[in-house]
Amino acid sequence: MIEDFSIVFGVPKYRTSKPKKVTRKFSFTRLLQPIDNLVTCPTCSNIHPSDTICDSCYAKIHELTSEIKRKMMEYNPYVGEKQDKEVYVKFKGEQETPADVVKGKRVLEMEKERPTWFKKLTLKE
Ligand SMILES: [Zn+2]
Repeated sequence: MIEDFSIVFGVPKYRTSKPKKVTRKFSFTRLLQPIDNLVTCPTCSNIHPSDTICDSCYAKIHELTSEIKRKMMEYNPYVGEKQDKEVYVKFKGEQETPADVVKGKRVLEMEKERPTWFKKLTLKE
């Protein structure tokens, strides 16, 4: 059976013991490495790693989107997260949107004012 294989792979001669693996994984040289990819968030000046979203900004976005989602579910609870119509979110203190922007979408009214990062849907896009 082994004669059929033309390539023989390198295999370790001795088994690596568990303590040796654990020591390698959690050694002090690994744990005490400095984090050098920290950046400052331009909006809230919170420090976070460069490959992740800022925690406090994400919390704000999550709070608003979950509120929108909750309102959507209130309107149509049996469909679940997949609603039958698209939703246009209208915030407090906004003017009535033109009908060609809304285009048969369900208008969801919020009690809050529109945050600066939540873009308004316009015809230009
Ligand atoms: Zn931030």
